[in-house]
Amino acid sequence: MVGSSFEVQSGLSNGSLANGRTVTLPEMLTLAAEEDSFDPKAVVVKPVPLSMESNLEVRKKKEIVLGRNVHTTCLAVTEPDADDESTGDKEAYMASVLARYRKTLVERTKHHLGYPYNLDFDYGALAQLQHFSINNLGDPFIESNYGVHSRQFEVGVLDWFARLWEIEKTDYWGYITNCGTEGNLHGILVGREVLPDGILYASKESHYSVFKAARMYRMECVKVATLVTGEMDCTDFKTKLLANKDKPAIINVNIGTTVKGAVDDLDLVIQTLEECGFSHNRFYIHCDGALFGLMMPFVQRAPKVSFKKPIGSVSVSGHKFVGCPMPCGVQITRLQHINALSSNVEYLASRDATIMGSRNGHAPIFLWYNLNRKGYKGFQKEVQKCLRNAHYLKDRLREVGISAMLNELSSTVVFERPRDEEFVRRWQLACERNMAHIVVMPNVTTGKLDDFMNELVQGRSIWYKDEKVQPPCLAEDVGIDNCSCALHK
Ligand SMILES: *Cc1c(COP(=O)(O)O)cnc(C)c1O
Repeated sequence: MVGSSFEVQSGLSNGSLANGRTVTLPEMLTLAAEEDSFDPKAVVVKPVPLSMESNLEVRKKKEIVLGRNVHTTCLAVTEPDADDESTGDKEAYMASVLARYRKTLVERTKHHLGYPYNLDFDYGALAQLQHFSINNLGDPFIESNYGVHSRQFEVGVLDWFARLWEIEKTDYWGYITNCGTEGNLHGILVGREVLPDGILYASKESHYSVFKAARMYRMECVKVATLVTGEMDCTDFKTKLLANKDKPAIINVNIGTTVKGAVDDLDLVIQTLEECGFSHNRFYIHCDGALFGLMMPFVQRAPKVSFKKPIGSVSVSGHKFVGCPMPCGVQITRLQHINALSSNVEYLASRDATIMGSRNGHAPIFLWYNLNRKGYKGFQKEVQKCLRNAHYLKDRLREVGISAMLNELSSTVVFERPRDEEFVRRWQLACERNMAHIVVMPNVTTGKLDDFMNELVQGRSIWYKDEKVQPPCLAEDVGIDNCSCALHK
């Protein structure tokens, strides 16, 4: 039995490998390509009556619903035939696999709501570049001997972000990463190199990559409690700082947490550090802006992420709000830190200050292209639209009596976890405990939200038609005021 009492559908038990040379198309492709409408009645739900008490109990021994085992649907690689005659067949087979795959992509893109990815972009003009192996290995600011690179685009993009986060061209260093995680790994590494015996502080709702960094670097890591909004609880932070006053502090500050879209109060974090007697050379702040790092600057009233404040680094994901066909991210830090920790590599004729060696040279061009097309004004418009649509969704959920929360600076709507894992999979919702969320990105229109709401309402009328089965209580996750369970509505 699982988290909110769904059957585990990971398929791990029947995970035998599809028999070597398959010629027929895998089931997943056929199914997903043709499935376009949702019939809640066709869905097998195995509801288990849940009372408030058992809800809590289940949560304590929480198990996690894992995704399907891909080995049952994978596309086997088949060796080319020895005689050239049948090559044509093989090519036709591969073309049909790709055509069907494309159809699933179209369908899956249409029904995506759970991850903070902007799926709406048009990079047609860049198709001509896919014939090139563009690689920015080494430092973005120092050319290496490998000439097929895109550093001129990369540095242009970095300058744009440096301006956004208010640091002079002469004072910053940064690079285009493979993802937000790499930004966190880099920022926390810089923190540790600057303060080698520092303790890492991060709220318990920080992204898992932050705790991964602590394990990788064998750093002492202190988890800080959170408020019900998901923000770092600075009272708890203070207690924990005071208990470790002898050691410097490296702090991960969330500019949008993954699950609730909560923004840690950067100014209060700095104030707390100062009140606890930490001078500016005894702390290092990394801002994890993977999610909202690019949205916050465009929200009026939002606290500012700025290098005018005593912060060490900021990172953001490029494929989230901006939208990009490949994962990427941006990391900006202070040049003085990098000069202290990097080394020159003769083989590259460049400097080694990045986490990865080879670096995707296409990603900077995509970012450059999109920033040029949209600019500050374009992003501002999109952010406003996302916030409006997020409010629309939250209001609609509350209207029909579904627990829901939306943080003030956020476009992440947290709500009751749908009872049917097939529904969750169909809309690609990310779930944790009794919560699911929708991150309203520029491609999420009110029309799409309406479709989702209709299916959710229809689904619930079936999942909860038996009075013994009640929607879960979310008081612990989103607060009593936002909870619409039988007890709190
Ligand atoms: C998504 C996310 C990350 C990780 O970013 P990736 O680009 O997926 O590696 C880190 N922190 C937060 C808050 C995120 O939402």
